[in-house]
Amino acid sequence: MSFKFCSLFSGSSGNSSYIGTDKTHILIDAGLSGITIEKSLKEVDLDASMLNGILITHEHDDHIRGAGILSRRHDIPIYANVETWEAMKDKIGSIKSRNIRVFENDMDFYIKDINIQPFDIPHDAVAPVGFCFFNKGKKISIVTDLGHTNSRIINTVMDSDLVVLEANHDLEMLRGGSYPPYLKKRIMGRKGHLSNEDAGLALVKMIKGKLTHVLLAHLSEKNNIPQLAYETVTEVLEENGIRDGKDIVVGMTYRDKVSNFYQIG
Ligand SMILES: [Zn+2]
Ligand SMILES: [Zn+2]
Repeated sequence: MSFKFCSLFSGSSGNSSYIGTDKTHILIDAGLSGITIEKSLKEVDLDASMLNGILITHEHDDHIRGAGILSRRHDIPIYANVETWEAMKDKIGSIKSRNIRVFENDMDFYIKDINIQPFDIPHDAVAPVGFCFFNKGKKISIVTDLGHTNSRIINTVMDSDLVVLEANHDLEMLRGGSYPPYLKKRIMGRKGHLSNEDAGLALVKMIKGKLTHVLLAHLSEKNNIPQLAYETVTEVLEENGIRDGKDIVVGMTYRDKVSNFYQIG
């Protein structure tokens, strides 16, 4: 009986994570094709037909591409807030009315034995959210696609056992890279994405809780390198007296492959 998590893939090219218990199986976002997601689930011995729900953080394509197909093919409910439903409904195609589920930010709800708390995050989508998940005293949180952190977000996730946190870009790579100026500005903006350094600084605050595992997520393909993200974050942690492998375990998610499979509790 444990709380399970893995990232199927993560990055600007597409995002989807699995969270589950023995009874319950949930996807968070479905940002690549239905077939790709089904294949990734098979790698961790799961079948898409077992899914009890697909939760959507926000309507950007890298989070919703496969959601409609999976819902139609396997009769899976999709959960999003009303603003996100409005923004994504034309992109994901027709969904059976019984599979259209609406949550409210800051109002928790259950899918079977998993309690879910959606909370606002600052990002340039209509009503983007992060999620906290609870089962048997354990807590897993997902916070990606946010331009900055604030004390409300830190407090919301800080007593998690595992946090999936965005480390989107290296600032120097982004500044010196090939993206057009408007896009660089968007990514660096208050409603854009967290840099590696931002992620490290956020973690220093979060770690004051019982946090033991963090997974770095949503890495940019063009403006980041996994090793650089890892090194920047662990350097910021070390500067603050926090050691990887001792005080916290820093893990990675990948753009094109499934992460480690975590079992908590
Ligand atoms: Zn986004
Ligand atoms: Zn995204």
